Amino acid sequence: MHTTTTSHQTTSSTTPRVDLPTCPVCADSMIAAESSAFLAENVVSYLWTCDTCGYGFVTNHTMKKITCS
Ligand SMILES: [Zn+2]
Repeated sequence: MHTTTTSHQTTSSTTPRVDLPTCPVCADSMIAAESSAFLAENVVSYLWTCDTCGYGFVTNHTMKKITCS
């Protein structure tokens, strides 16, 4: 007798690919931004604090303007 089992691949990691920075001091990957602030209407600044070494830094992200015409 031959039993056919349908192999269902389940991926355990469901983490989406987000542009997360790494700590410039200990190279640890940041998980979530501490806070965010808008510098301009399409520029947002994120404050990151490293959980490993406590280093804090800011990244600026330019967002694509959603144009409705
Ligand atoms: Zn660090």
